[in-house]
Amino acid sequence: MNINILDTNQLALMDQLISDANTVLVVCHKSPDGDAIGSSLGWAEYMRLRGKDVTVIVPDQYPDFLMWLPNTDKIVRYDKHREKCDMLFKIADLVFCLDFNTPSRVDEMGQALVSSKAKKVLIDHHLNPDVPADLVVSQPEASSTCELVFRIVWQMGAFAQLDKAFAVPVYCGMMTDTGGFTFNSTRPEIFQIISELLTKRIDKDRIYRNVYHNYSEDRIRLMGYVMYEKLVYMPEYHAAYYSLTRDELKRFNYIKGDTEGLVNMPQQIKGLKLSISLREDTEKNIVWVSLRSVDDFPCNLMAEEFFNGGGHLNASGGKVEGTIDEAIEITKKAISAYENKLK
Ligand code: 5GP
Ligand code: MN
Repeated sequence: MNINILDTNQLALMDQLISDANTVLVVCHKSPDGDAIGSSLGWAEYMRLRGKDVTVIVPDQYPDFLMWLPNTDKIVRYDKHREKCDMLFKIADLVFCLDFNTPSRVDEMGQALVSSKAKKVLIDHHLNPDVPADLVVSQPEASSTCELVFRIVWQMGAFAQLDKAFAVPVYCGMMTDTGGFTFNSTRPEIFQIISELLTKRIDKDRIYRNVYHNYSEDRIRLMGYVMYEKLVYMPEYHAAYYSLTRDELKRFNYIKGDTEGLVNMPQQIKGLKLSISLREDTEKNIVWVSLRSVDDFPCNLMAEEFFNGGGHLNASGGKVEGTIDEAIEITKKAISAYENKLK
């Protein structure tokens, strides 16, 4: 099996760019998930191994269920330390952009990123990359950016010298981006990579528990409330959606991350093809939308067409600038517009 992914030119360029740099930044998308944080922490470990002065910068808060990962205390938040980060973007020699395909995915940090004179490398698995970069490693067929990080590090011959601080976040991101290896993870190389990561004596069962078994009582009751009272099931379309208002979130003492993964739950209904979550922002007049599908139903096209968003075939997101009722109306329209693909 071939783990290598860079062609000869990419490999040489990657090595050259790293060798030429001293100050290195590793950045990922806003509202970072396990793959964004995992790949950033893993890649930063490799940069440390290469003797670089490396900083991981994230646009905003990352979820509580990732706090336990090694070295999260060194992550710098752009929204909290803007001046420091802007300065870092000015002095950096090299910036790695991980797990996003377009500058708008890094929010306000996009300006600092695009105007930085540093060399840039994109490592990502989303479709249609348009981050201006000196080297683009874009592999939409990869399970996760963490998988790409592993494969590059492997190809650069550095894996043997890395330890748990690399293996734990990389495993974590592969796990979260595949729903615990339940989707998008059928290629045999993925399990070859896992078997290599296990040689670093990571405790994969504990990683699973740290991520998935860490709910608050409020969160588990919110899940129950949504499934019992809020889910709208449309069996004729093999679709379901739910909405959550600001007041409902308040009732369950919502904190960021509490609805993470909730949109996957309706997918457990037999035959369901499409699940949509509508969540009112706690302050702004915006409704955040998440879409999940199975097989060949294109969530990303629906997200682009109806929800100012995009994403992967089976997992996409977007937003409605309006009220929750408007978002519900748009959702109904979207579902009926895709009738042919759903029925
Ligand atoms: P989530 O539902 O977890 O917020 O997002 C699922 C996936 O959809 C993300 O991994 C990301 O690829 C994509 N996504 C979410 N929001 C947006 C958006 O506003 N624009 C685009 N292009 N993709 C998004
Ligand atoms: Mn990802």
